Formats: sequence, C-alpha cells, structure tokens
Amino acid sequence: MSFQVNNNNRPPFPPPFAQQGAPGSRPGPPPSGVVPRGPGGPPPQGSLGPPNVMPNRPNGPTPPFGVRPPPGAFSGNVPPPPGPFASSGNVPPPPGPFASSGNAPPPPGPFASSGTAPPSTRPGSFQSAPMTTGQVPPGPPPLSGAPSPFSNGPPSAGMQGGPRFPSTGGMPRPVSGPPPPLSMSSAPAIRPFGGSLSAGSLPGLTQQAPPFSAPPTGGSPPPPGPHTFSAPPQGPQFPVSQFGSQPWSMQQRPVMPPSQFPGSAPPPRMYNMPGPESTASISPAMSQGPSKIDPNQIPRPIPSSSIVLHETRQGNQANPPPSATTDYIVRDTGNCSPRYMRCTINQIPCTNDLQGTSGMQLALLVQPLALPHPSEEPVQVVDFGEAGPVRCSRCKGYINPFMKFIDQGRRFICNFCGFTDDTPREYHCNLGPDGRRRDADERPELCKGTVEFAATKEYMVRDPMPAVFFFLVDVSMNALQTGATAAACSAISQVIADLPEGPRTMVGIATFDSTIHFYNLKRALQQPLMLIVPDIQDVYTPLESDVIVQLSECRQHLELLLENIPNMFQNNKTADSAFGAATKGAFLAMKSTGGKLMVFQSVLPSVGIGALSAREAEGRTNITAAEKEAHKLLQPADKTLKTMAIEFAEYQVCVDVFITTQTYIDIASISVIPRTTGGQVYYYYPFSAVSDPAKLYNDLRWNITRPQGFEAVMRVRSSQGLQVQEYSGNFCKRIPTDVDLPAIDCDKTIMVALKHDEKLQDGAECSFQCALLYTTVYGERRIRVSTLSLPCTTMLSNLFRSADLDTQFACFLKQAANEIPSSPLLQIREQMTTLCINILHSYRKFCATVSSAGQLILPEALKLLPLYTLALIKSIGLRTDGRIDDRSYWINYVSSLSTPLAIPLVYPRMISIHDLDLKETDGNLPPAVPLSSEHVTDDGIYLLETGEDCLVYVGNSVDPDMMRQLLGISSVEEFPTQFVLQQYDNPLSKKLNEIVNEIRRQRCSYLRLKLCKKGEPSGMTFFSYMVEDKTPSGLSYVEFLVHIHRQIQAKMS
Ligand SMILES: [Zn+2]
Repeated sequence: MSFQVNNNNRPPFPPPFAQQGAPGSRPGPPPSGVVPRGPGGPPPQGSLGPPNVMPNRPNGPTPPFGVRPPPGAFSGNVPPPPGPFASSGNVPPPPGPFASSGNAPPPPGPFASSGTAPPSTRPGSFQSAPMTTGQVPPGPPPLSGAPSPFSNGPPSAGMQGGPRFPSTGGMPRPVSGPPPPLSMSSAPAIRPFGGSLSAGSLPGLTQQAPPFSAPPTGGSPPPPGPHTFSAPPQGPQFPVSQFGSQPWSMQQRPVMPPSQFPGSAPPPRMYNMPGPESTASISPAMSQGPSKIDPNQIPRPIPSSSIVLHETRQGNQANPPPSATTDYIVRDTGNCSPRYMRCTINQIPCTNDLQGTSGMQLALLVQPLALPHPSEEPVQVVDFGEAGPVRCSRCKGYINPFMKFIDQGRRFICNFCGFTDDTPREYHCNLGPDGRRRDADERPELCKGTVEFAATKEYMVRDPMPAVFFFLVDVSMNALQTGATAAACSAISQVIADLPEGPRTMVGIATFDSTIHFYNLKRALQQPLMLIVPDIQDVYTPLESDVIVQLSECRQHLELLLENIPNMFQNNKTADSAFGAATKGAFLAMKSTGGKLMVFQSVLPSVGIGALSAREAEGRTNITAAEKEAHKLLQPADKTLKTMAIEFAEYQVCVDVFITTQTYIDIASISVIPRTTGGQVYYYYPFSAVSDPAKLYNDLRWNITRPQGFEAVMRVRSSQGLQVQEYSGNFCKRIPTDVDLPAIDCDKTIMVALKHDEKLQDGAECSFQCALLYTTVYGERRIRVSTLSLPCTTMLSNLFRSADLDTQFACFLKQAANEIPSSPLLQIREQMTTLCINILHSYRKFCATVSSAGQLILPEALKLLPLYTLALIKSIGLRTDGRIDDRSYWINYVSSLSTPLAIPLVYPRMISIHDLDLKETDGNLPPAVPLSSEHVTDDGIYLLETGEDCLVYVGNSVDPDMMRQLLGISSVEEFPTQFVLQQYDNPLSKKLNEIVNEIRRQRCSYLRLKLCKKGEPSGMTFFSYMVEDKTPSGLSYVEFLVHIHRQIQAKMS
C-alpha cells in the first residue's frame, strides 16, 4: 500500500520540547535566562533545573506560571514598565519551571503568609463607584450603534462622571508604556504596546531575545523577507518513524508547495479534475479487510521538532497558518496571528453551494487575548485621541490594512461593506506610487492584522471598572473534613501577592454553609468582623461598602482571616450548602462594580435559592428511564441558576467555580453560571488533600495572573456575502450580533460559525474582523481589533488544499459538546462520523487523482481527520460509561477550549518513560507513541497527557528497581491512592520530573497526575485513551478506516 503525501504536513502535536511559549502552550513564563533557540539548539537552560522558590513565598509549590504579568500585560504583552505599580511586594519570583510537585510540597500549614504588604497607594484614591441617578439606557448599545457603541457598566445607572484616572487621550495613563517611538507623528499617537521589550512581559523573558531571534541557524535574526524558516519544511520530512519500523512509503512525485495560495495563479487542475497534490491514499488492500493493512502505515501524527516562523501575509497574499499545535513564531504582516483568529478553510468558498459540496464547515475560532510567543512582537496600542479610532461610518468596521484609500487619500473604501467614507482631515495622507498611503508602514492600524485602540469616552457608559476579586469559600462539614476549605484558603492566601497592585484592586471574601458569612475587612477594625446572612431565599448583603475593600487596606486582615477560617469552622456540623444563595449574595456585594467571583464548592448545593437534588442517584434506581433520559442529566436541573447568571453578566460579574469534591455535585447545573458569565469550571475529583492543593493553587494563580480583561463586548464582522450565523463559547448574549463577556482571558476561545448570504467574487478577498472592547485590570479601556483577509475561490480543490485540520476538528469537538446534552449519544457519534465521511467523499469524488475504486483517498490536509473523529467518538463526552459529572465537566471544558488544546483532549500525547535513559532527547520531550495497546508493554511505564490530566500507567512486570527510581515504590501493590510526583536522587527521576514540568509549561496547566495499573479502574481509564484499539462498542482505527471507505464507496455508486 502506498500513501501520497505532500509537504504540507501538519503534525498535530507540538514538537517535542517546543520553545518556551510554544503555541499550544500558553507559556508559563519560562525560567529566567532562557533564550529561544533554534531546532537542535541546546536545551533550555534552567527550564528544567531545580525548582525555583519565590523568595517571598518559601512555602508552597512553585507555580508553573512564573509570575504575574506586569501592569499592562493583562491586555497583551506589555513588558513591565517601571510603572506606578511596580512595588517591592510584587517582585516576581524567578519565573521558574514548574516546581516538581514533589520538591516543593504544599506548605504543611496552609497559611504561609505571602509576604509583607507594602502600602502601595494612598488610601482613598479610589472609591467604589457611586451610583448616580443619571439615566443611561440599559444595556449596551450594539457595537454598530454610532454614538455610543459600547457599554461597560451594569445595564443601567451607569455614570458619566469625570474620570478618576487619567484619561487615555494624550495623557499619561496609569500604566504607561515606554516612550513612544520616534517615528510617531503628532496624532494619532501610537504607543507601542510593549516597546522594545519582548512579548512575554515576564521577568526572565522580557529582556531576552528580540522577536525572531531564534532562527534555526544561530543567533542572528533572519532577514525580514519570506522563507527564512517560514512555512512548514518543504519536502517530505519524515523522521525515522516514531511509530513503526518504517514510515509511509513516499511517492516521489513533486507536490504543490503549500506556501502560497494558488488563488492568483490558475490551479493546476480544473474543477472536478484530480489534482496530484494533497493526497494520501490507502491501497486496494484496504477494502479487502483490515487484515491486509499494516497499522504502521496508516496516517498518524508526526511530531515536528522545528520551530516555524510564520508571516501572516507574503506577496500580498494570505499565508496559510502552521498547525495550531506546532511551535511557531508569528510575524504580523497584515493578517492577524492565527493565535487570535483562524478559519476552518484558508480560502473562502464563493458560494454556499460550493461549501456544501465540500462537506466542510465555514467557521472561525477566535481567541482575542491569546498568549503570544515570547519572541513575537507585542501588539501595538494606537491612540487616536478624542476622535477615537477611524471606522466605517456605515458598518462600523475598524480601520485596518484592507481598507482601500482612494482619491489621493481623501476617501477610503470599507473592506466589509464596500461603503466609501471621507478620510477624517487629521488622518489624511497622500498615496504613494503603489497606491498605498505613504504612512501605511508606520501606522500599525494600516499594516498590522492586530492592533489595540485606546477607547474614548464613547466606548464607556461609566469609568472603567476596578479590578474586583471576591472569594467565596465552602465551609460546610464535608468541605472542612476533606481538607478542601484549608486548600482553598491556602491557595487564596498565596495568590494575594499576585493580585494587581494599586488602588484599583479590590477584594472581598465570604464563607458559606447553610448560611452566608461576610467579613468586614475594614482597616479600622482590629479583627475581621463576621456578618451572617441567614436568609438564603431572599438574599441580601450587609454593609455593602465594607465587604469589598481596597486590597491595600485589608491585606493583613485578609491573610489573617484566611489563616483562621479552617479553624473557625473546624467543628462545623452543617452539611448543607447554600451555593446559589451565597453566589447571589457575593454578586450583590459586587453589583456596583462588577468583577471576578471565585467560588470554592465541595458538595451538592442543597439549600436556598438554586438548591439541587442528587438526581444522578435518582436516575440510577430506574435504569430504563435513566438510559432513555441520560442526556437530561447533562442539562441544568432548572432555570434558576441561568436566570441568576444572566443578571450577573449584566452587571459584569464573572464567576469561576473551583469544585473540590468527592461526590456528585451536578456540574451540569452549576456550570451554567461560569459559562454565562465568561468564567470556567475547575474540577478536582475525587478531591485529595494530599495531591490536589498544588494544582488548586496553580490553577488559581494562573486564573488571576493570566492576561485578561473585564466588562468586554465582542463582535465579529465579515465582508459582504458572509455573515455570522452563531457564536459559541462562554459568554452572555443579549443582542444577536454581540457577545457580552464580563471577563475574558487569554485561554478563552469562541467559535464563530459563518454563512453565506450572497455570492463572493472569485479572486477577491474576504475579510473578517474581531473587535473586543474591554477594560484592562489596570483600568484602561481598549479595543483589540484583529483582521484576517482570505482569498475567495470557486475551486473545490483549493478548499481541500487550504483546509485547516486543527480548526475543523476543534469545531467538530465543540459542536459535539454542544449537542450532547440534548441528543442521544449514538446520534451524535453518527453525526460526527457522517461529517467526516461527507468531506472525504467530496474529495474522493471531485478532486482525487487515483481512479481505483479500491483506494481510500484522503486529502493531505485532512488525512488525520478519520483518526481524530474516531478519537472524538470514543472520548469521555461521547461515551456512556463515564460519570455524569465527568461528562458535564468535559462538555464545559470543551466550550471555551482553544484550538491547540482540542486535539490532545481526545488524542492525548503518550510517551514511554521506562526507557528514558536510552533516549537522547536533547532537551526535547521523547517522541509520542501511537495510542494503541500494542504499543503498551507489561514491563513499561507510560505517561499520557491530555492537556488537562496526566496518567502514569505502570505495567505489571516493570522492573522493581526502575519503579523505585521513578516512583519511589517497588511494586504495583504499593500504589498510593493519592499520588504526588517526587523527585528522587537519580537521573531517571530527574528526567521524569523534567518531562512533567515541560508538559505543564507547554499546556499552562498543572496537570494532575494519576497512577494507573492494569486490572483496576485506573487502568481502564488509561486504556480508554487507546483510541486505535477495538473496544466492545467501538471500532479499531483500521476498522474505522475500512468503515469510512465503504461508506464512501456506497455513496459513489
Ligand atoms: Zn463598512
């Protein structure tokens, strides 16, 4: 059998040991001193070294994510200016590697004081926003509403008072960047978002190499021209197979280089005609049954170890992005970085019919605040002063490189609606001989795919909100007894030091069981005063103004309180939990400002508003009904929490829920609140006081330190001919065109489905623009605008050639997750398989070269689609054997999942660790092993990671000495129930810790580790990820290929 493969190979896995800040990796800041390196370069020095321990925080595991981004970094990648908020209390720790959890165990006493609290600002320089009687129409006007395009406040009673902070217009802002570049003209002012410092804005990173300093050939920056090391390597690049003795046989026929769209040049084949490019085929043997197929020769992900430099446009054409899961560095040359927005197809079908024929969907995945690679140029901030950013007066599209200036620059044509506007006089500039404005290359908004505009008053109905963090901790009996309360208090106490400095940062805390306990944190009081709210049906908040106070005024009180809470409730016998009421009470306290509410919940909410029942158990007593109605358990129990959540969102309150439980807690119902408010669910099940506090702390830390924004509104526009059909993700939607995001962070991704409403012109380009209006944690109102312009085509073969597997699969995944609560599982599995078959059938019918009916022919760009589809239908979300809460959590996790993390969730990365000493990895992660039990031996130890979880499987006959060296036990009988990875004094253990730390860094997630062994539920969990295996209810990979092939043949005849 043979495969045809072209060089447009997109390994779905991040290359082993990607650079720090690898794409998939929302990089935890790499360790200090790490410099990007080219492929084959030295391993990142120090990144795997001994764990760093913060000077100020001797206790607790070193966070994986280094440090809190400095002021401004929250909105992107601003380097730490020596701004007003730099304070000694905030000295970032060495942005160390993930401390091995073993080396830096959680503090024995949970309440390590997190250092002294420097009085950072004058008290009183901030006051909570007084609500005035000024009448402002409720609800944010749509983005297109001309005069007052955005609302950032609660739905009503916004205020128009004078600014409490320096306004953006021309004045220095609280967090000012470095001085403007010399090339600036008078107005509009352009302020580099990050000046000359590099993207990471993280100590240890910031001073490192300039953008693009990591060429494969050495230290000097590549020339700016194309092809430095851009684009996937040309020509077949098959490392000696990781997976089998022999890689696929290669056809020598040259294939189309993928580096450019053939949009401008006539494609080599006519429509309907086969094209030689982009094909992988499986020989006739395939159709004769699985026995003839060599499993070593079927398409599998091939890891790439080289970093790719991606220029978003070359030669005035869009450049198709590298795979989302590879390590790449983007140079924004007109289109936005694929991190911010990528399309399922990198050429846009001109008609709905053509798209329908292809079987592919047309959708964008947008991640507007995605973490850039540390070597990428920071996004620039453009300040148009009082006038605000230039926009199309008809559709309100923002100025971007694809708006065409005509008439000596006096007018410009909108690339979205085609309207011609007069250029504002102060923005006028003559055109050069090439027809572009002469200043185009100096103005980020005219030459970059992504810019941030300083928002004017027009974009506010009130002053930008302060950064409010409210912690709500379950102190019911169960939470106390399992150690969950102590773990939560410890984590909060440790992250207080990471909260943004300055007068705008406010905090509050409450605890709850069957009643709610607020605390007056006011400085004048010697001890925090507890205020009990017993009414959990009609909740109120006592002393609203003193429940949330400036962090600088209450730091010590708060720390003391956190230290005392576990003792205060030590003997609590109240088992009930008023989750809904407590959340509502905290919301009421935050209502006037908005902010982030972080709830730590350990048991099923049983009393008060939004109380839930153990309906899972009820379902189990009636099996028939349970099966028929299984998906109902994945829906919220009722509308109470949803109604509450919508109100929270209106007042800009975002809720994150940290679930530390050992029982069913009804995530399907609880998760409605985070999903509607732009938050997320964290799930620690079964909660372990031994192994989970480290993860809890790291998750909380990343939650508050990652780049993020508040009171946000997002809209995606597209050129005429297409429109947004639907948005999907964690947000609230009050009007059809916009999504409201009380908070948004770098991890959150929103799927935007598109539909045709008329024909697009062949050869023209179609633009998409995502505009996100938000408030930084430092109180700056910004509009981040990302624009992507792609060629339109009438050629089906172009669509297949430019298909983006990662994005398409992520859309599959999100669609499936959306459907699970409302459709029978079998139906969804069939639907996903059908989607896959329709695409491949279209390709087979209209584009494939090979005429033999016996061959399964896969478009090169999508050759892994069958494998990932199979993995999807075997995933936790689409299996019936999972716990209801596990599946609800999975659905919720997928909802905001980024493109790079979509594939690992269902097709995890597995590496063998028993032979670590044999592998010369050169600092890279060892190669991945195919997910097939054939590759799992009884004397082996394997590590499997999904981006969220990490399983360590130990075979039954592993060498005891090796087991002792790696895991500290000498037989599988000694398996601890709660596993914490330790680092022992031997090279094997060191290497394992290095690997785990590197994975955590790449994934920006602490990845809870679980030991698995054969014959136990843990072993079954591990083997459930062997998606290539045949299972009682599922086909093997080979069988699945045969199945697909037969279906395609049936459709052909
Ligand atoms: Zn327009």
